[in-house]
Amino acid sequence: MKVDLHNHTVLCNHASGEMEDYIKEAIKKNIKIFGFADHAPLNPDDGYRMKFKEMPIYEEKVKRLKEEFKNDIEILLGYEVDFIPGHLDKRVINSNTDYLIGSVHYLKTWNFDNPQYLSVYKNKDIDKIWEEYFQAVEEMAKTNLFQIAGHLDLIKVFNFKPKKDVRLIAKKAIKEIKKANMAVEINTSGLRKPVKEIYPSNELLELIKEFDIDITLSSDAHKPEEVGKYSKEAEEVLKKFAFDKCAVFRNREKKLIKI
Ligand SMILES: [Zn+2]
Ligand SMILES: [Zn+2]
Repeated sequence: MKVDLHNHTVLCNHASGEMEDYIKEAIKKNIKIFGFADHAPLNPDDGYRMKFKEMPIYEEKVKRLKEEFKNDIEILLGYEVDFIPGHLDKRVINSNTDYLIGSVHYLKTWNFDNPQYLSVYKNKDIDKIWEEYFQAVEEMAKTNLFQIAGHLDLIKVFNFKPKKDVRLIAKKAIKEIKKANMAVEINTSGLRKPVKEIYPSNELLELIKEFDIDITLSSDAHKPEEVGKYSKEAEEVLKKFAFDKCAVFRNREKKLIKI
């Protein structure tokens, strides 16, 4: 894949490797536009995000690397931002970044993609969980603060699937994503997770196509060797759904490039 906009750094406390090594791996995999979008800080801190005081360190480092590697690859600066109503911080929202990825990892206080809290899935109706998740995605899109919808169906991470048709559950959220002019990332990290599927699923990609929503590409790498690891699988999705353009963002402005 030519583009990879969602990659992490050690600052988030659950990734490893030098930032330089992520970039070298991207160059090796023939990625032309590579973005860091590390987990933005959260208040209160959950231990899996960078701290507010680390934001300038992160931003300056990415800008320095952008300059250093400019002959080999274009590097972009972003954040992956948790959408938790009432917890959006101006320092992140107004940061001088190319883009913000809006991601739902929390339903109220439940960090549902953390295996530590897996038991909650068994104590609650699965359709209700999926509905609450996509309501949160819908609200996230309605804020108009984000350029990219992160791992659109992350709620499938542990392979607990709804009984209801996912297209019905997700339709309103997808409409709002279109309205907000956001791109949806084809995120290969699901292949590393119990669900063993790309985000979003084929059913949701059908809807994305139907609504003519732009896509972008991401590894969501938490280690250098994860950068571009599933390029082949991502390209199969592009082909299957006949996506021939990919969104990139500079200074929060969308540009579609041919792929
Ligand atoms: Zn992470
Ligand atoms: Zn995420």
